[in-house]
Amino acid sequence: MRMRNKKHRDERLAACGHLLLSRPEKPHSDAGSIFDRSDAPLWLEIGCGKGDFAVGTASANPDICLVAFERVSNVMVVAVEKAEAAKESRPDNLRFAIADAAGLSEWFGDGSLDVICLNFSDPWPKKGYAKRRLTHRGFLEVYFRLLKPGGQLRFKTDNAGLFDFTLEELAAMGKTPETVTRDLHNSPYAEGNVMTEYERNFSEKGFAIHMLTLTV
Ligand code: SAH
Repeated sequence: MRMRNKKHRDERLAACGHLLLSRPEKPHSDAGSIFDRSDAPLWLEIGCGKGDFAVGTASANPDICLVAFERVSNVMVVAVEKAEAAKESRPDNLRFAIADAAGLSEWFGDGSLDVICLNFSDPWPKKGYAKRRLTHRGFLEVYFRLLKPGGQLRFKTDNAGLFDFTLEELAAMGKTPETVTRDLHNSPYAEGNVMTEYERNFSEKGFAIHMLTLTV
């Protein structure tokens, strides 16, 4: 996205600094070390983009606490400003981190998370880059460790290749999703679905949205 200059971006981020987390000295073990509510379910979105899903999900679910990771600060600035503009529509249950999924274990302890959401993750279609896919088993192993028993992984994508790859990775790990749909918007799971920016774009162009959920 266009950004006049770095200084401008940093000023805008600083104006929403109360919504941004810095890397903790030790990994968070529950929502209580981030929010005022240690008993609230702790959700994580990885690669939140411009924040529609994070803001929509936190507003629709006032009982949860949500942290949204995004590694590109030029994108994150849009997400935090959106969250700030919509703050009247929800309790204080949303934070953002300019962070890479590769460092997740430094942020969250084992069994600390209730839900991990991956939405329209970069497909990295070249075979040589498979390890960079956020549903490569190297990442999945970390997610399953950080999720508490009964916690859930949720994944949406327009990309059939990435979806197939994800199902293969899960199968290789002996994991079976309880929900798999290749056309989310025309499925029973469409109700209550919070759309992301990519999701709106791709579905307007006629692409079907794939989704899976897996409870650990
Ligand atoms: N979830 C949004 C954006 C999808 S594009 C939507 O559905 O509209 C994928 C996003 O994930 C990009 O903004 C990209 O910067 C971010 N991303 C990719 N790899 C990441 C990683 N390893 N850690 C954190 N964010 C990542």
